[in-house]
Amino acid sequence: MERPLIKTPPPGPKAKAHIERDTRVVSPSYTRDYPLVVERGRGLWIEDVDGNVYLDFTSGIAVCATGHCHPRVVEAIRRQSEKLLHMSGTDFYYTPQIELAERLAALVSPKEPYRVYFGNSGAEAVEAAFKLARWHTRRELNIAFFGAFHGRTMGALSLTASKTIQKKHYNPFVPGITHIPYAYCYRCPYNLTYPACDIQCVQWVEDTLFRTTMPPEEVAAIFVEPIQGEGGYVVPPPEFHRKLYDIAHKYGILYVADEVQTGIGRTGKMFAMEHYGVVPDIVALAKGIASGLPLGAMVARADIMDWEAGSHASTFGGNPVSCTAALVTLDLVEEGLMENARLQGERLLEGLRALQRSHESMGDVRGKGLMVGVELVKDRETKERAGDWRNALVRRAFEKGLLLLGCGMNTVRFAPALTVTAEQIDTCLEIFEEALKEVVYA
Ligand code: PLP
Repeated sequence: MERPLIKTPPPGPKAKAHIERDTRVVSPSYTRDYPLVVERGRGLWIEDVDGNVYLDFTSGIAVCATGHCHPRVVEAIRRQSEKLLHMSGTDFYYTPQIELAERLAALVSPKEPYRVYFGNSGAEAVEAAFKLARWHTRRELNIAFFGAFHGRTMGALSLTASKTIQKKHYNPFVPGITHIPYAYCYRCPYNLTYPACDIQCVQWVEDTLFRTTMPPEEVAAIFVEPIQGEGGYVVPPPEFHRKLYDIAHKYGILYVADEVQTGIGRTGKMFAMEHYGVVPDIVALAKGIASGLPLGAMVARADIMDWEAGSHASTFGGNPVSCTAALVTLDLVEEGLMENARLQGERLLEGLRALQRSHESMGDVRGKGLMVGVELVKDRETKERAGDWRNALVRRAFEKGLLLLGCGMNTVRFAPALTVTAEQIDTCLEIFEEALKEVVYA
C-alpha cells in the first residue's frame, strides 16, 4: 500500500533555502498555508525538494483533474509542442482551438448552438462573460452572491464577495453589482434549514430586490457558482438554481454559471449545473480543463455571443498546447474519470460522515463528487466556527503527508484528482482523523 513518506519534517533544509529566496523576490500577496516546496508530481503524489512524499488532496487547487503529469496529457503536450507552441488564436486559425470549441459547445448543450471564447484563467473567463453580458443585453446591472469567488481582475473581483482582504484598498469597483445571500440554508439568520425555508431566499430576489432597488429590466446577468467553491464548498438545495434561473429568464436576465472550479467532471457530472437541471446561458470554465496548463473558456449561447470582431480578445488565450491538453483531459474525463469522481466522492462523503458521528468538532459535511467540504465547529448546535482548528488541522495533515486546503471561514476542502483510488481515499480519511484528534483534543 502506497503511503505518504515524511523523511525530513517539513520544511526540510532544501525547502527552507527555497522559501528564503522566494520571500525576497516573489510577491507577498500569495497565501501559502504551509511550507511545501514541490519538486515533482505524479498522479496523486507530490514529492518535495527534500524527498518527502505527500498524498495530494488539493490537485493544485482543483486544477490537475487527471492527476499530476498524466502520461497521456504529457505525451499530447509533447507532440503539440513539437508542432506549434503559439500563433495567437485571436488573429489566426489552428485546429486544436477549433476542435476544443466544438467539443465544449456540444458538451454544454447538445441541442442548442453555443460558441466559445478562450482566455488563460478563470478570472479571464468570468471577465469575458461579464463583458459579453453587457454587450448583448446593453444592461448595466448585475447580481452576484456573498461568498462568491470569481477571480481577481477588476471585473471579476467586483463580482467576488468572498474575503475582504481580496478587495481591501481596491475600491472603486465596477459599479452596478448587487450581492445577495447564497443558499441561505447553511447560514440562515432565521435558523431555517432546507426544506423548511422553501428557498425563500430565491423568491426574495423577485419579491423584494426587483420591487425595491433593482429594476429587473436593467439587470444584465446573474453570476453564480453551481456549488460555492472558495466560499466554503456550499451546496445549494436542489431547487435553488432552477428557481433562480426561471426568475432570471422571466426578465430577460442571463444566467451565468461560474463552473471554473466545479466543471469538467469534478462533481461527477461534466458540469455541476447538470445536477440542477439547468443549462446556463453562459458558462465560465478554467482550472481542471487542461490538467494544469493555463486555459480559460467562456461558452455562451450562439445568439448571445453576438459581439463584433475586435470587441474582446487575448493574445495567449486558447494556446494550441493548452487546447491539446484540454482535448485529452476531456477524453480521460469522459472515458471514466467522471464516473470515478462520482464513486470515490461517495466513498469520501460516507467516510467523513462516519467520522462525524464520533467527532463533535465536525459540523456540516457536504459536497458532490470530489468537491467535498467539512466545517469545523466548536459547537454543532450554535455552529460556532473554528477557523483556528481548521488552519491547525490543515497544517498538521501536511506534516503527516496529506495535502489539504481550507475554504470559507472554517471549512476543510477535499479536492483530489479525479483519478483518486479507494485506497487513497481511505488513507486520506485516516490521516485526516489523526490530525483532527491531535488538533482538537490536544
Ligand atoms: N471562479 C471560481 C469559481 C474559482 O474558484 C476561481 C479560482 O479559484 C476563479 C473563478 C478564478 O480563477 P483563476 O484563479 O484561474 O483566475
